[in-house]
Amino acid sequence: TSVVGFDIGQYGSKIGAARNRGIDILVNETSNRATPSLVAFGPQRRLIGEAAKTQETSNFRNTVGSLKRLIGRTIEDPDVDVERKFMNAELVKTGNTVGVSVNYLGEKAEFSATQLYAMYLAKLRDTASAELKTAVNDIAIAVPVWYTEVQRRAVLDAAEIAGLNCLRLINDTTATALGYGITKTDLPTPEEPSRHVAFVDIGHSDYSVSIVAFNKGSLVVKATAFDRHFGGRDFDYTLVQHFAKEFETKYKIDVMSNKKAVFRLTAAVEKAKKILSANPLAPVSVESIMNDVDASSTLEREAFEDLIKPLLNKATEPLERALAMSGLTKEDIETVELVGGSTRIPALKNAIQDFFGRPLSFTSNQDEAIARGATLACAQVSPVFKVREFKTTDAQIFPIKLVWEASADAAADEGTELVAFDTCNAIPSTKVLSFQRSEPFDLEARYAHPDQLPGGVNPFIARYTVKGVKPSAEGAKSLVKVKTRLDLSGVLSFEGATLYEQGPEEEVEAAAQPMETDGAAAPAEGSADAAAAPAEPAKKVRKTTKTALPVVAAGLRLDASLVNEFREKEGQMFATDKLVIETEDRKNALEELCYEVRDRIEGNWNKYSTDDEKSKLRELAAAAEDWLYTEEGETATKSAYVERIDQIQTISGPIALRVKEQEDRPRAASQLRELL
Ligand code: ATP
Ligand code: MG
Repeated sequence: TSVVGFDIGQYGSKIGAARNRGIDILVNETSNRATPSLVAFGPQRRLIGEAAKTQETSNFRNTVGSLKRLIGRTIEDPDVDVERKFMNAELVKTGNTVGVSVNYLGEKAEFSATQLYAMYLAKLRDTASAELKTAVNDIAIAVPVWYTEVQRRAVLDAAEIAGLNCLRLINDTTATALGYGITKTDLPTPEEPSRHVAFVDIGHSDYSVSIVAFNKGSLVVKATAFDRHFGGRDFDYTLVQHFAKEFETKYKIDVMSNKKAVFRLTAAVEKAKKILSANPLAPVSVESIMNDVDASSTLEREAFEDLIKPLLNKATEPLERALAMSGLTKEDIETVELVGGSTRIPALKNAIQDFFGRPLSFTSNQDEAIARGATLACAQVSPVFKVREFKTTDAQIFPIKLVWEASADAAADEGTELVAFDTCNAIPSTKVLSFQRSEPFDLEARYAHPDQLPGGVNPFIARYTVKGVKPSAEGAKSLVKVKTRLDLSGVLSFEGATLYEQGPEEEVEAAAQPMETDGAAAPAEGSADAAAAPAEPAKKVRKTTKTALPVVAAGLRLDASLVNEFREKEGQMFATDKLVIETEDRKNALEELCYEVRDRIEGNWNKYSTDDEKSKLRELAAAAEDWLYTEEGETATKSAYVERIDQIQTISGPIALRVKEQEDRPRAASQLRELL
């Protein structure tokens, strides 16, 4: 099996794979190392990635981007409103989440953001498997640092719908840090002070920064901050507004009123923006932008920097937040490592450099560092690929608390909530909470500060019912320990609950064994651990029996039945796409065959075919060509094309064989001579 990592970007996505004892970035069907993050719907099939990009201008209402920004969101989410500005497809409510309404196969169809993401993953899966020439199952996916539980789980659902086994998610900047650290041979030893590196990623829609402490063989993410609405597209949009205004005076057209015109102007200004990263001046031109106007202008770098001032002014805010969270000073940061396409903008580079007061570093591949890191993250947990040991400890951004109802059954000092995973808590990690109860009870996991969450994310994470709790034989409350875990993907899970029952006091010979405690245990209020310890240091002790309790969880993962339904639908759409592509392919093959046959019977097949064969072939080819130009021939089924191909090949096949034999004969004769 394979070891593959995906970097799902807003602009483009990259695929890494462990191959030839290293990590390779895989190319797609058009030999590009990045695949446009777009899914489109056509009258006959879906078009994903490059194919979607190619037809975007002519089918922009049915071409969907923002895959990573819509997943796990509701239609009411203010962040989804922001997305509308950059999207042309119609957003609708599908189930509990946002989705799109598009024209697909000539009909209106709705797809949830999770389904769209799954479609895209399936495309990347096929790209990877075509390149690796093997099935792709095990993957890791890099996600924005600000993804909350609901978004992370939705990505895992999408992977499942795409038939992929997502071994883990990894935060974008952590992936970059992993790729950086694993190759460095000069990291301080574990005893020495850590080397602190700031990783800054500014892409098309997103800005994130992590401050990471490195020692030999390990990294610890100390702090992470982000601006979800800061990236290349915001620079593009500023330019679009600028030129729309200019064109209004210059050409008397209202670009902003025309979605297609906005779309085409966006492409033009993006191109100019890139030119300005290396040149003082760039042309901006859009042929027949609207109302038959050919719009053109120029942009100077200085004017560009003036226009983006408001963006540049907030370009260091995430850096300040990350530093504050890490408790470090600018001087403590040894290296500032930049990745992401937008860090090529000189003014942005300068702003970051001025902030840290030191030259920036670009040792990681700016475009591919995340995909490489995600692949390493996959390798770390995959049984099939050995990778150098590198302990990676990420940090939880949004604190998570557990909440339970006040109950007469509970200990008086128990309270009703506890922050189990605070800001900067290590990922992965396990927490054990202790309760004194005699009846089943419920627990709820929630984000402790809903106001910190991106957009309108629901702070609810999951609800758990701990069943089978009963009082001790003497009628006292029992100790119940509940184990929760933030797993490698930054996803919360309940590992289970255990009931500790104490038997009657017994005389024992040896010293009492202290009760087993989990390494990462965090005793809750009213420290129950003490109660479970031997009552006296003497030889009298109570025997403790542990029983695993049944736990019922209601979380945010999609229902298994819904995942299956989506999987089935995805399979059907995949089959439809495949059939349409194969039909196109056979149609082209028939066209080519007609041409080839006519050409050859006048050429090198002439001597080797009878007049009867020739006339039959001419007839079949002419009939096929005529038919191909009719509506029936234009839109026939795969088997109809195959049938005509077969008819021609029944006659042309033997001729081609005769020609081949004839051509091979002199060679065979000379080989025979050599043997004699
Ligand atoms: P995100 O991380 O936000 O999801 P992404 O990973 O898809 O997005 P990247 O590939 O890192 O984004 O960067 C794409 C952005 O970088 C685009 O906005 C693109 O216009 C911009 N970009 C690429 N090259 C240059 C350049 N030379 N100068 C300025 N901007 C550039
Ligand atoms: Mg990116």
